Amino acid sequence: MIATQAQPGAFAFLEGALDRADHLRDAPDALAARWPQAKVILLDDDCHALADDAQRMFAVAGDALGGMPANAVFLGLQDDQAWFAARAATVDIEAPQRIDLRAAAASWPAFEAGVFAQARAVLHWHARHRHCGVCGGDVQFVRAGWLGRCAQCGSEHYPRTDQAIIAAVTDGERLLLGRQVGWPPKRYSVLAGFVEPGESLEQTVAREVHEESGVRVIDCQYLASQPWPFPGSLMLGFIARAHPDEPVAGDELEDVRWFDADQVRAGLARDWATPMADDEPGIALSPPISIARWLAQRWLAEFGGGA
Ligand SMILES: [Zn+2]
Repeated sequence: MIATQAQPGAFAFLEGALDRADHLRDAPDALAARWPQAKVILLDDDCHALADDAQRMFAVAGDALGGMPANAVFLGLQDDQAWFAARAATVDIEAPQRIDLRAAAASWPAFEAGVFAQARAVLHWHARHRHCGVCGGDVQFVRAGWLGRCAQCGSEHYPRTDQAIIAAVTDGERLLLGRQVGWPPKRYSVLAGFVEPGESLEQTVAREVHEESGVRVIDCQYLASQPWPFPGSLMLGFIARAHPDEPVAGDELEDVRWFDADQVRAGLARDWATPMADDEPGIALSPPISIARWLAQRWLAEFGGGA
């Protein structure tokens, strides 16, 4: 079985994470002192980042924005440089462009893409948790944006991540890949699904694979994880051994099949950014920013005689 962990650069949002400096979240005076020199990433209400003319990060200094806006989030430190995230709607500044996180993950330096991913996840949580789930009262964000406290009943709310499994399922010779309606032509990917309450990850792998393909998993092994803030997931990557059952697509997929090593190798060798035609032979795989592609690569390295 594969024992390799993901290396930095294997997919997006792993590299150069900020020191989150938790102790500063309870030190508003220290954060206010850092604000004028801080770098601030600004997101619009669709969770796109403000960008310059070349679609690069448009990170402004705190003093260009005046005082710290309400609900600014302290993201952390990089070499003693403070980074914050704020909603563009709360500051008086214009930028020439916007960029979404998928495009930024493919084009920005890895560190900056990671900052964007963190900012997007926590600001999206703010946007969806303005009211208390216990009593419906207004939620106020404290601890530099990392804790929501109900003004009415005092309940505390923490940022959410939604765990999902993603699995390279193999019968020992072939890899199980499926495609969803609406994906680019010929795009196939390893199977994924959300963890349900009361489930272990291993149970989720077996249930999701069976629901989506009818294939019965024998066992699985955890390999690596990826934050996937679209809007708030954490992808937990597995490789799973399964019976060589004939796949039957469930409700979530329009097609699911076994592919041999030559087919997967050819799919990985394609230029991922060039769309395939409907009648073109072969398959396309997920973009390099995703753990999905890395899992297919890992499977090929282990079971397919290498890339
Ligand atoms: Zn409440």
